[in-house]
Amino acid sequence: MKPDPRSSVDALDAIDWGEDGLVPVVAQDASSGDVLMLAYADREALQRTLESAQAHYHSRSRARLWHKGATSGNVQHVREVRYDCDADALLYRVEPAGPACHTGERSCFFRLLPGTEGDATPGIGPTMGLLQRVVEQRLRELPEGSYVRRLHDRGVGYAGQKVVEEAGEVVVAALQGDDDAFLAEAADLLFHLSVLVALRGQRLDAVAAVLSERHRERVSESSESSEPSESSEQAARLSGPDRQG
Ligand SMILES: [Zn+2]
Repeated sequence: MKPDPRSSVDALDAIDWGEDGLVPVVAQDASSGDVLMLAYADREALQRTLESAQAHYHSRSRARLWHKGATSGNVQHVREVRYDCDADALLYRVEPAGPACHTGERSCFFRLLPGTEGDATPGIGPTMGLLQRVVEQRLRELPEGSYVRRLHDRGVGYAGQKVVEEAGEVVVAALQGDDDAFLAEAADLLFHLSVLVALRGQRLDAVAAVLSERHRERVSESSESSEPSESSEQAARLSGPDRQG
């Protein structure tokens, strides 16, 4: 999202501000999908957010506008703003410059309510987002002894060779290995691919954008089609490399 000094009145009027003029705002890490915090916004806060492309809220305890990160430096660059079906809640999708929480935690939701421990795994989005962040950090800091640093020092060609190697191992494990071996090889491949992407100066986010753009194309193609079987076939291939369908 680009800062827009004219900040659209239409955008502000799309929201049902209710009697107290406040709506809840969920801030989400745009890369990882992690929920970072919950706060509130009034018209002024949303307007400033749109104008600056940095998250602004209305602090209920201090009863005033709150520019997140103004003192701590932990600003949130707003990629897009969504609003819910009832137009009475906002979602800021952000690139955080630092922890969202005053405790120093990345997300305010770092505590698990006792008795609710389950087997909820973070899922592919947050995990790849975290991997991207860690790889980029290693490439910035190049810590001694880090494997990412070793790949960096040997260059794109070497990292690419590792990707080819890991891809071969995935295929062998798919044909011969047990599930654990296959999953481990697939994880190695994704790891090395993510380093190659970063070494190439690109981001997994950009790869995801290509995939989701293809998905959109497939969905719009299939909604124009009257053949249900064809659309399900298209859906099945939505992220495949074949772009001729
Ligand atoms: Zn917090």
